[in-house]
Amino acid sequence: MQTSTILVIDPDGSEMPRISSAARPFGSRIMWADTAEEGSRLMAEARPELILASDAVPGLPDPRKLLDDMARLKLASQLVVLSADPGFDRSMEMVADGIFTVLRKPADQERLRGVIRKVLDGLQLMATLVARSPRDSERELEIYKRLARSQELGPLASAVCEAGDALAPGVRTTLELAGELGQALASLRDPGARNSAAGFAACPGIAPGGDDADGDGDGMFPPGACDGEDGMFSFDAEPPAPAPAARIVRELSFRGAVLGTLTASFPDLDPAEAPPALEGLDELVWAASLHLYRAKQYQEAVRLASRDPLTSLLNRRAFMECLDREFAKAGRHNTPLSLIMLDIDHFKSVNDTFGHQTGDKILKWVSQVMAGTVRTGDIVGRIGGEEFAILLPWTDQDQARNLAERIREGLAKARRPTRSALLRPTVSQGISTLEHFLINSPEDLIYWSDQAMYLAKREGRDTVRAASDLRPDPMLEEHRYVFQ
Ligand code: GH3
Ligand code: MG
Ligand code: MG
Repeated sequence: MQTSTILVIDPDGSEMPRISSAARPFGSRIMWADTAEEGSRLMAEARPELILASDAVPGLPDPRKLLDDMARLKLASQLVVLSADPGFDRSMEMVADGIFTVLRKPADQERLRGVIRKVLDGLQLMATLVARSPRDSERELEIYKRLARSQELGPLASAVCEAGDALAPGVRTTLELAGELGQALASLRDPGARNSAAGFAACPGIAPGGDDADGDGDGMFPPGACDGEDGMFSFDAEPPAPAPAARIVRELSFRGAVLGTLTASFPDLDPAEAPPALEGLDELVWAASLHLYRAKQYQEAVRLASRDPLTSLLNRRAFMECLDREFAKAGRHNTPLSLIMLDIDHFKSVNDTFGHQTGDKILKWVSQVMAGTVRTGDIVGRIGGEEFAILLPWTDQDQARNLAERIREGLAKARRPTRSALLRPTVSQGISTLEHFLINSPEDLIYWSDQAMYLAKREGRDTVRAASDLRPDPMLEEHRYVFQ
């Protein structure tokens, strides 16, 4: 990322030394304006990534006015308000209006650093989103503006429970989250216990298996990954309190989205003695809902940024990230790892004969058959136009070949998305596996499964070849090795 710019609007510059030192690790350029007018001018001129505005600036416009200016200039900036006396209500109001956060003056160095990091990370995420669908950049910008203010789910859940426990002596607070927020929280609490949720944590956006819990065709989270019918997962810092206990249950929701529930329980009280209310609980419920809503939006955007829009499979970048991670893991634990490269045969003529729209339907159909054939934990990506890759942890070459054959047969048998009997798409697949001594990097794995895939093309298409099927040829000799 190129050098970022931070604009500080502060009447006396008293925050400048702390801000400079917090921004040092990021190499950001820092600009200072001591009046609101100067701030507006620099904002338009320098288009900063982050604006830190003190509420002590005489004539500093309402933060809402600054936010309007930022929107008018189409800035991807975030606005942070520095205040000597923020006050909970006013802070929450400003955050709901769209500022990133409020920092108490004098600003704490660590918090400042955390805010700068989060803003810059968010911008990078947005760049990925925009690169993914440039036509939607305005919408993505809007999503980013909202999501970048989100909080990390784990610390957020702990903070909410801790704040709840502090409301009154003897109270124990439990947070239950719905849907994918719940899945993500469960995987944080117990990585590996729920394989689909763990897959989510390891490689956001993975479509494990072909199952589709929510029926939206995205292949996320197979059934059985949720506790109970409503898909709720609970978070509790300590083991569950013995029931029955008096309790107050509040629903967490924001802008129509139901996020979960917050339960304040009193283990030492009889259920009949449940207090009607707990001072501060409503405030906590409101704050928790707001932040969880942001976390949900963030989660959705991360998923969006890692998915191919047509097929909902991992896009190339996300797939490569998973490949790097799995390659390192397999090397560390000395476990098998295989890769299948799959390319649709004569796809150009499908487009030329039946039209691009039919071509797109075929791409989706092939994706679905692949996703429906792999096991949970296998990683499927669309890495080029009509090229796909499947990463198979814990899988040797023979097992990978079996899977590739099942995909080939699956495509032959599955109902095709067009009525034309002439259209019988097939695929060529190439396999490489970590066992081969030539494979020393993720790039080698890709390279050799590509070579095997080209061999499958040369040998008639609609077939599967592995790197070990390659015979010595000039190209191979150049690399001074022979496959058996
Ligand atoms: P081969 O069997 O050798 O792989 O031949 P092919 O025709 O499949 O290979 P080629 O690389 O010549 O053509 C790939 C085609 O894929 C060309 C391109 O128009 C088409 N394509 C790439 N992305 C998309 C897409 O998103 N939608 C559609 N409909 N077509 C696409
Ligand atoms: Mg191709
Ligand atoms: Mg092709």
